[in-house]
Amino acid sequence: ATPAATMVGTTIGAQNGVLFEGGDVLERVRDVDTVVFDKTGTLTNGEMELTDVVSVGPRADGGELQYDEESLDEDGVLRLAASAERDSEHPLARAIVEGAEERGLDLVSPESFENVPGQGVRATVDGREVLVGNRTLLSEADVDVGPAEETAERLESEGKTAMFVASAPTGTSEGEVVGVLANADTVKATSAEAVRTLRERGTDVWLITGDNERTARAVAEEVGIDPENVRAEVLPGDKADAVSDIQSDGRKAMMVGDGVNDAPALAAAFVGVAIGSGTDVAIEAADVTLMRDDPVDVVRATRISEGTLAKIK
Ligand code: ADP
Ligand code: MG
Repeated sequence: ATPAATMVGTTIGAQNGVLFEGGDVLERVRDVDTVVFDKTGTLTNGEMELTDVVSVGPRADGGELQYDEESLDEDGVLRLAASAERDSEHPLARAIVEGAEERGLDLVSPESFENVPGQGVRATVDGREVLVGNRTLLSEADVDVGPAEETAERLESEGKTAMFVASAPTGTSEGEVVGVLANADTVKATSAEAVRTLRERGTDVWLITGDNERTARAVAEEVGIDPENVRAEVLPGDKADAVSDIQSDGRKAMMVGDGVNDAPALAAAFVGVAIGSGTDVAIEAADVTLMRDDPVDVVRATRISEGTLAKIK
């Protein structure tokens, strides 16, 4: 593009809350044929709220209960999980802790705490080893999620993120799933419109998330993304590879994300787009920043690039 076209496009963008970084970005945006959306915080508001606490068990083992019944009621499960999540900054963790506080539960400080990226947390609470997280977290600790699977699947098919809570007496390998928690997030008001408009323009739309397959598909359905274009359970370190994979057949993908996790994927994409309320790391990695956090501004970015480049050559 001529310097004049670039200047016009960049100015119109800025007036519309779409910040293009650098001269050749407008041209790249025009050539995009695929848009990959991150789920949490991009298509959804990213404001998690604890909606469900389900206790699993107590189950008898050799005639004896593994744990005292009291610790296994809903409040017991939530108190254990929220205490384990106390030191975690993850939005899922914050929602669990807030939910426990709203219910007036007294949380304790964990004796130990470990964050397992893309999976959950591991902590010691009241002398028990506690796990809160997804299936991978539990299965890697040899804990059977079976007794909680049905509950989790039900919650996930409602588009919620289900998290398993497991507990074991410290130093033993007798971990058992004691409950399931679910956090709900809400889809942004304009996500479906953004997806529909992009698809009408012939752009292929994908969804990528660390969240589980069932939750991801429920959200995809709500916004109008085909199930085969959903990449779920992508570990934080693997998002960039997933984007490269989508681009491997020569596609030119625009990746739209907000999180620290998304930054490498934004850099790997043909065009990286950051949501303005997202993390600084994402904004730094991006070629375009959307100041209004509105997914429809992805369409606006495309229109601005096409419009200015077509008019001024
Ligand atoms: P996202 O891409 O949705 O931001 P992450 O990659 O951070 O998700 O995490 C992937 C999955 O790991 C979550 O959907 C959740 O099941 C689990 N998880 C991660 N962190 C936590 C946590 N602090 N507590 C419970 N579960 C967690
Ligand atoms: Mg996100």
